[in-house]
Amino acid sequence: MSNWGFVRHSRTSLSLLKTLRFQQKAHLGSTLSSFFYFSTSGEGRAGNENPVRPAPPPIRVGITESSGRGVFATRRIGAGELIHTAKPLVLHPSLSTVQRVCYFCLRKLRNGGGDEPQSVRFCSEECEQEAKSFRGVETKADWLAFDDYCRSLGLKYPLLVKRFACMVISGALAADLLDILQPASLSPLMISEMEEGFNLLRSAFKVANFPDERMAFLTKQWYTGVLARIRINAFRIEFAGGLYEDLLLSAAASVEAEAAVGNAVYMLPSFYNHDCDPNAHILWIENVDARLTALRDVEEGEELRICYIDASMNHDARQTFLSQGFGFHCTCLRCLSGD
Ligand SMILES: [Zn+2]
Ligand SMILES: [Zn+2]
Repeated sequence: MSNWGFVRHSRTSLSLLKTLRFQQKAHLGSTLSSFFYFSTSGEGRAGNENPVRPAPPPIRVGITESSGRGVFATRRIGAGELIHTAKPLVLHPSLSTVQRVCYFCLRKLRNGGGDEPQSVRFCSEECEQEAKSFRGVETKADWLAFDDYCRSLGLKYPLLVKRFACMVISGALAADLLDILQPASLSPLMISEMEEGFNLLRSAFKVANFPDERMAFLTKQWYTGVLARIRINAFRIEFAGGLYEDLLLSAAASVEAEAAVGNAVYMLPSFYNHDCDPNAHILWIENVDARLTALRDVEEGEELRICYIDASMNHDARQTFLSQGFGFHCTCLRCLSGD
């Protein structure tokens, strides 16, 4: 198979601004405000019950000189400061952890997994409630063949497309929600490899008798377009702290060695550019909500960047990963220095 599995941290990329049309910008503004929430101090808005709107995060999305969109600090941000948090647009647990984490927020469940292989569980009534829209669609169809396809080929991103499709059919999300994100460029071979997944997804809905008009969006072009965006924008979720070790242990006992609890696509975090010596990073503490945190002091106006890959790799390995996984040649200061 092609290199679907090696990306560690993903993001949107580069030189896209030229194609960002005016109406997309307008769309961006409203989309951003609905999909991130934040706290400018690390402690949220404790104290009074004042229903004032939270302060906006100290960032703006702007245009960089060479890398298209980027995220900039609007004031000085101290090392360790929580810059903002972000809710996912679409997420899915790894198939190897699906029995052990909340099907909606990926939080680790206390008492192991359910016995039935097809069962999914939630950490709270809130999550179960939030999941009702897409579960209402998902549970009407039979996913054995589709899940088998993903499992046997080690594919995780088609699961995100499946959930996204369920949310669109349920009316919870618009089919073009991810269009604003940069797509990976796909070779004809990669597109043909997606054919089977598309056919399995579509036929699962067909067999479940969803009306044609609710499935009109589900074309091969839509499927490959969504996968092309997920491919470079999905983040692989690993919790900071103990859970990671738990998962390594359980993964060691499992045929599927997948340490990640799942994968998710976000809007604002996707606009952060890459740097091999980043000044910000993204953390997951207990669930799928992303926490963007400053790694060192950042001055007002400075671009905030995260590292998409394992920063401990040497120069050549980093360049190979970035060019094959994300389609760009890194010219960050560290790379220019030859480190
Ligand atoms: Zn949950
Ligand atoms: Zn670099």
